[in-house]
Amino acid sequence: MEIMPKSPIGKGWNLRHTYTSLPEKFFANQKPQSVADPGMVLLNEPLADSLGLDFEDSDEKQLARLFAGNSLPPDSMAIAQAYAGHQFGNFTMLGDGRAVLLGEQEAPDETLWDLQLKGSGRTPFSRRGDGRATLKSMLREFLISEAMHGLGIPSTRSLAVVSTGEPVYRERVQAGAVLTRVAKSHIRVGTFEYAAQYLGTENLKALMDYTIKRHYPHVAGDAFPALAFFKEVVNQQAALIAQWMRVGFIHGVMNTDNMSIAGETIDYGPCAFVNAYHSETVFSSIDTQGRYAFGNQPKVALWNLSCLASSLLPLIHENKETAITLAKEAVYSFTDRYQERYEQMMGEKLGLGAKRETDRELISDLLDVLSELKLDYTHAFLFLQGDFESEEQSGFLHPKFQDWWMRWTKRVVTDGRSLEQVQQLMRPYNPQVIPRNHLVEEVLDQAVNGDIRPLYRLLEVVQNPYNLDRSLRPYQSVPAAEWEMGYQTFCGT
Ligand code: AMP
Ligand code: MG
Repeated sequence: MEIMPKSPIGKGWNLRHTYTSLPEKFFANQKPQSVADPGMVLLNEPLADSLGLDFEDSDEKQLARLFAGNSLPPDSMAIAQAYAGHQFGNFTMLGDGRAVLLGEQEAPDETLWDLQLKGSGRTPFSRRGDGRATLKSMLREFLISEAMHGLGIPSTRSLAVVSTGEPVYRERVQAGAVLTRVAKSHIRVGTFEYAAQYLGTENLKALMDYTIKRHYPHVAGDAFPALAFFKEVVNQQAALIAQWMRVGFIHGVMNTDNMSIAGETIDYGPCAFVNAYHSETVFSSIDTQGRYAFGNQPKVALWNLSCLASSLLPLIHENKETAITLAKEAVYSFTDRYQERYEQMMGEKLGLGAKRETDRELISDLLDVLSELKLDYTHAFLFLQGDFESEEQSGFLHPKFQDWWMRWTKRVVTDGRSLEQVQQLMRPYNPQVIPRNHLVEEVLDQAVNGDIRPLYRLLEVVQNPYNLDRSLRPYQSVPAAEWEMGYQTFCGT
């Protein structure tokens, strides 16, 4: 395996390794394992650019070797990170079983970005897994994470996908791939659970101090830094989940190892988007109890945050009782933080302007009507903001929806605003397109069968989701009811 090429592939490398300053139990040194025949599939040039990386002079073969892990960038020090987590409520030791962190790229604005290869081979944390990823699932992560970014929602990003030329054995034999993931960091709730459970208070404190320095430096001088840090994470999560609810995003596997301390959406396994509105919508094949259903996401975030609080207890206060009292109060503050974010978000989607007491009811009545009439969540807001002709959307002519619409128009046109003005204000909050599940599956199937062009096109469209363009109508289509009924997503990694 050629690890160090004669001259580096790409320009602008500036890798740091701050994570390796943590005690060594937090990671294992682990180089990516070379693949047979790397082939470039996707490269995110604007993202590379923002990281200060320039691949213009590199040929495709070289780039494929780089993003497959066959050649390492200069000064990389690859590691697999250790973490634990509650998966569907059960505590387990985990860790990067098929990913390695190459380092943290310092961007021109001096911010640090984790560069991680996912699907890069076995690590000490692989348990029974093969360390590999399928092309379809890595293309899915690329597409959805970039769509989330386009929607304005904090998310890990995707820099590249390469095919490995190697088979991956799942229920069926599939093509293998490696994704390059870019994140503010890969520190998870589960990283803290791991430290608290196995490494003792001193190591736990080292992790917290590191995390504060990296993500929440303003709380470093606080009289109760652990509590202040925890409250920051609570705020970030409240903001994030409200944003998911804005666009109908269902994460699908909100285990504590898949919740980022930096507040980014992370781990696009069985995620999907709501079409016809229903709070109990769930698509993931393994979520048989609906634990991670659309409307449950705020509750699950609260549950996950309580795991984080438990892990932080010894750092919150030296007196255990006091620590528990303070932690409980902070955990429960999530409900208020979330409610504030949610109401603000819905207010923006509906153009409500200054808050009124009756707004809560107006919002919940809308959701009841949508769910009863099985109306599309995204379309409903486009209809309200005048971007859909009513003939195209006969469901919105139903008397129950029309009654609600009358109430809403009366509510928004007060304060001297015209309906057109209100609609104009709503547009930045209501996407014209979301990555519809049926379209995502269609382009992924085409891509793994050799035609990548439809995926490129969908990617382009979902990266600019507020763009009002009549030619995008096909991307606004909803799936047939039968399709939706049978749709399941798989962790199918
Ligand atoms: P996820 O469900 O993707 O969040 O993964 C949960 C855990 O399983 C993480 O520790 C992953 O690293 C690990 N894992 C998932 N797929 C594989 C695989 N193919 N080989 C090894 N470990 C894996
Ligand atoms: Mg995960």
